[in-house]
Amino acid sequence: MLYSKMLSSTSKEKPAGTEAVSHSLSIMAGLVSPVASGFYTFSPMGQRVINKIESLVRKAMDDSGALEIAMPTMQPAALWKQSGRFETYGKEMMQLNDREGRTFFLAPTQEEAAVSFVKDRLNSYKQLPVTVYQIGKKFRDEKRPRNGIIRAKEFLMKDAYSFDKDLDGLDKSYTVMRGVYTGLFNTFSLKYATVSAETGEMGGRFSEEFMAFSPTGEDTIARCVKCNMAEKPQELQREELVCKQCNGKLEICNAIEIGHIFKLGTRYSVPFDLTYQSEEGQKKQVEMGCYGIGITRMMAAIIEQNNDAKGIIWPVSVAPFQFAVIPISLDNAAIRAASEWVERTLRASGYDVILDDRDLSGGKKFKDADLLGFPYKIIIGERGLRDGKVEIEIRRDDTKTMVPIGTDSRSGQFLEAIETLMRA
Ligand SMILES: [Zn+2]
Repeated sequence: MLYSKMLSSTSKEKPAGTEAVSHSLSIMAGLVSPVASGFYTFSPMGQRVINKIESLVRKAMDDSGALEIAMPTMQPAALWKQSGRFETYGKEMMQLNDREGRTFFLAPTQEEAAVSFVKDRLNSYKQLPVTVYQIGKKFRDEKRPRNGIIRAKEFLMKDAYSFDKDLDGLDKSYTVMRGVYTGLFNTFSLKYATVSAETGEMGGRFSEEFMAFSPTGEDTIARCVKCNMAEKPQELQREELVCKQCNGKLEICNAIEIGHIFKLGTRYSVPFDLTYQSEEGQKKQVEMGCYGIGITRMMAAIIEQNNDAKGIIWPVSVAPFQFAVIPISLDNAAIRAASEWVERTLRASGYDVILDDRDLSGGKKFKDADLLGFPYKIIIGERGLRDGKVEIEIRRDDTKTMVPIGTDSRSGQFLEAIETLMRA
C-alpha cells in the first residue's frame, strides 16, 4: 500500500477541547474526523484498526461456538413496549418516524430483537444452550458526547445473547463468555480490572464490567495493588482502603468501561414468553445472558494505554499497518528499488505494510509514522544499502537493528530476521 494513496491527514496541533489523549491522538493521527458532536467518520487508516479489532472479536466469538446474526439497527417501538423498556429507557433512545407515522428508534442494545428472533425458532431443549451475537452500529443520544469515540452517539458494538435451559446452564454460558472477554483484552494488550456492577436499564440478576485503566476515564474504581480485585468506590463502606480478598492496599484509579456482561435470567423471556419444551415435555422459561464489547471504544482504550509524546504505539495485532517502509530519498534509484523490494517481500509474506512514497523529508515521514503508531519502521538509506542492509526501528522502545535485504529469489534471510524481531 502506498502512503500517498491513503487519504491520510496528520496534524501537529492538539485539537481544542480534547481532554482524553485517545481523543486528541485519534484526530491528530487522522484516524477519525468529526462530522457532528458525537459522530465520526473513520478514515482508511482508522477503519483498518476497527476491522482488525472486529475480526479478532469475531474469531473469538466463533471459536466459543456463538452464532453470528445481523439484526436491524432501526427497530419498531412496539418491540420495546413489550418488554416495558420503551417507556423507561429515557432520552438516550433516538426516536424517529417512518412515512406512515409509525414510531421507530435506533437501537442502543437489542435484547428484545434477539429474544423475538430465537422465539420463532426455539422449540426443543435439544437446541439449548445457544448464543447468538452480532457486530453492528448502536446509538445513544448522549446529552453531552465527550472524549471522542469513548462516548459518541453512534458506536460499533459486539452484542451477544445466551439462551439456556436453567440457571446452571446460564452460569456455564456466562463463564464461557467471560473467558472470551479476558482472552480478547489480553490480545489487545489492555490493562483492566473486573468489577461487579449495577444491572441498570438491562435488568437481570448480576453483571460485571470490564474496566480499562485510563487517566481520563469517566469511571472511578478502587483496585487492589496485590490481587487486582476491583470495586466501585461507592460500594466501599469501610474506613480504610483495604482489599476484602487479600488485605492488599486499594488504589483509586480512573477507567473506561470496555465490556459489560449480564446474567439476565428471565427478565426478557417472561414478557416475550420465550419458552422451550423440556425433556419431560414441560413448558419451561429460558434463562438468558447478554454480553457487550464496545469495538470503537476499544480502539480508544488501546490508544489511552499505548502512547507517548510522539503519538500512538499500536500493539501489532491491531496496528493499521505493522510495517512502515520509509525511503530516505526517492530520487536515489537504489533506495527506491530497495524500498519497493522490502514492501513487496513483506506483503507477499502476509504482513501489513505501507510504503511512504511521499515527496517529503525523512524527518517528516518519521514523525508521521510515530504519530500513527506503526510498530516497526523500516528505514532505507544510502549508508545501510552500501552494506546491503536496512534499519528496523521498533516504535515501542526505539530499538534499532540493521537487517540484510536480498533479491526476490533470496528473501529468506530478510524474512527470518523479521520473524525473529516480531517474536522478541
Ligand atoms: Zn486484593
